Amino acid sequence: MVLTMNETKAKHATIYHDEDVSDELVEALRKKVIAIIGYGNQGRSQALNLRDSGMNVIIGNIEDEYKKKAQEDGFKVESIEGATKHADILMILIPDEIQADIFEEKIKPNLTSGKTIDFATGYNVAFKEITGMQIPIDVDIIMIAPRMIGVGVREKYLSGEGFFSFIAMEQDATGNAKNTLLGLAKALGTTKAGAIETSFRDEAHLDLYTEQAFGPAFGQVLMNSLEVLVESGYPVEAIFVEIYMSGEFSFTLKEMAEIGIVEQMKFHSPTSQYGSLTRGARFINPKLKELMAKSLSEIQSGKFAREWKRAQKRGKDPVASLKQTALQMPINKLEREVRKRLKMNPEKK
Ligand code: NDP
Repeated sequence: MVLTMNETKAKHATIYHDEDVSDELVEALRKKVIAIIGYGNQGRSQALNLRDSGMNVIIGNIEDEYKKKAQEDGFKVESIEGATKHADILMILIPDEIQADIFEEKIKPNLTSGKTIDFATGYNVAFKEITGMQIPIDVDIIMIAPRMIGVGVREKYLSGEGFFSFIAMEQDATGNAKNTLLGLAKALGTTKAGAIETSFRDEAHLDLYTEQAFGPAFGQVLMNSLEVLVESGYPVEAIFVEIYMSGEFSFTLKEMAEIGIVEQMKFHSPTSQYGSLTRGARFINPKLKELMAKSLSEIQSGKFAREWKRAQKRGKDPVASLKQTALQMPINKLEREVRKRLKMNPEKK
C-alpha cells in the first residue's frame, strides 16, 4: 500500500488522566454552585455525574418537559436568569444554534465578574464573529467537549470507564481557570479515559470535519457498495444485511478504535485478510484527499459557518428540505422494504 501522509506534520496533545489532576482541585469545586443550563442530552448526564461526584448542582431551564425531568431527578430548577445569578460555574448545554441569543438575553445581564462559563463545544466561541457570541472579559471561559453522546457520558461514568473529551481554556480572567477546568473534568468522569487538551478552534474544526468530510465520504462508500450489488442482481435483503444492517461492521469499527486499523484484522479469516490487503490499494484515490482538504479549508476560513448562519436566518428549516431530498433517493425505499421484510422495527427508536 502507498502511504502518502507527511508524518513530519504530526504533533501531540497533552492528555490528562485521573492521576494528573489532584483531588484538591475537585475538593475546591465542592464549595461552588454549578448551574447546568439546559437539561437535555448532555445536560442531564453531566448534572447527574457532577452530583454523584459531590458537587452542588442546580439547573437553569425554561418551563418545559426537561424542567419536570430535572425536578423528578431531585434537582433544584431555576430560570436560566436565576441560575446564572446563583451559580459560580455555568455549563452551557442548550443547542448551539440558540446559544448566542440566550447568552445575550438571559445570561449576560446576570453575570458577575469572576464566574466561569463552560461550553461543550467550541463552535460559537471559535466563530464568534459569525455567530455573534459576545463574551465579557472578566469571566473564565473553558470547554469540556465530550466525544460521546449524553447517555454514554452517564453510562461510562457509572461503569467507571470514563469517556474521552477535548478540553480547552479560552479566557483566564481569574488566574484559576485551568484548575477549574481540570477539577470539573475529573468530577465529570472524563479524566478516567482521557481529557485531551485542544483549543476551542481546533475542537470546532475537528467536529465539523468529521461531519462534513469523513461522514459523507463514508456514506458514499456505503451507497456505492449497495448500488454495485443491487445492480448485480443479488437479493436485496442479503445485501443490506451483509453491508451494514447486521451491525457486524460496528464491531469492526470498535476493534479499530481499541486495538488498531490493521491489528483488528486478526479477528477476520485469512481469506478476508488476503482479499482486503491485495485489493485495498485499488481504492487509494488522491482526489478523495483533495476533496477532504477542500471541506477542511471551508471550515477553517469560516465559509461554512457563514453559510450556515445565512441559511438559519432565511426562516424556514434549512435542514428539513435537504433531508427530504436525501430521502427521495431510491435506496431509501428499498431500505424500508428490506427492514419490513426483516421484521426490523425502527419505530422503537
Ligand atoms: P439538547 O438539544 O439535548 O438540549 C436541550 C436543552 O436545551 C433542553 O433543556 C431544551 O429545552 C433547552 N432548550 C432548547 N431550546 C431552548 C430555548 N430556546 N431556550 C432555552 N432552552 C432551550 O442539546 P445537547 O445536549 O445535544 O447539546 C448541548 C451542548 O452539548 C451543545 O453545545 C452540543 O454541541 C454539545 N454536545 C452535544 C453532544 C451530543 O451528543 N448531543 C456531544 C458533545 C457535545 P426545550 O427543548 O424544551 O426547549
